[in-house]
Amino acid sequence: MRSKIVAGNWKMNTLPAEGVELAKNIVAGKGSVCECVHFIVCPPYTHLSEVAKVLAGTGIALGAQNCAAEEKGAYTGEVSAAMIAALGCRYVILGHSERRQYYGETSATLNRKMEQAYAHDLVPIYCVGENLEEREAGKHFDVVKAQIEEVVFNLTPAQFARLIIAYEPVWAIGTGKTATAEQAQEIHAYIRKVLSEKFGAAAAETAILYGGSCKPSNAAELFAKEDVDGGLIGGAALKAEDFLAIGSNGFGK
Ligand code: PEP
Repeated sequence: MRSKIVAGNWKMNTLPAEGVELAKNIVAGKGSVCECVHFIVCPPYTHLSEVAKVLAGTGIALGAQNCAAEEKGAYTGEVSAAMIAALGCRYVILGHSERRQYYGETSATLNRKMEQAYAHDLVPIYCVGENLEEREAGKHFDVVKAQIEEVVFNLTPAQFARLIIAYEPVWAIGTGKTATAEQAQEIHAYIRKVLSEKFGAAAAETAILYGGSCKPSNAAELFAKEDVDGGLIGGAALKAEDFLAIGSNGFGK
């Protein structure tokens, strides 16, 4: 049985006190959502320590939005996997399209970040997805396959067993355009097939999340699909009510 996951990516939003408030509201409303849902919140680095205190003992997990590719040392401005793990993170988002697009993250960098994440017992939420041009050219399967082959295929079976994938079509992120449930299912099933070619039956256990303008009104349709195991949520994760409603509409109260 795969986990049902609703993960919030706050991106560069909220001041620390607002983040704490948001986390408190999520904790306060969690009882309205099926216990089967595993919630993860990924605030900015600056909020991790305070949000960790709010989440302690609630069953809601903490994640970071990124980590450095290096262990430690003279890397001004970077934050290491060891540091975020020490603050209570269990998860780290890696390979988000905004990191690939604005900060030039390549598969080579991501391989090193994945190593760091695993070295510090973090579970990577590895993002893949095509842009609009690639979708329109019918290249989305090839793009996603390459993003998986170049990074995920380098994992050991033990590492792969501790991986979450997020399929996030770039054209749907923050645009209000959502992939249809059929489009999501088609590519999630494809991703699982690619994973199974390398990792065999273990791929049946991998949680594959959908991300891209997921909201309370479309969560039920998306999460009902066989290979959609939940969502990575951006904009709608900034309102506790919406974030929780994605969980309850998608997986039950
Ligand atoms: C994201 O960037 O991870 C995301 C899914 O954003 P949004 O929900 O705002 O489209």
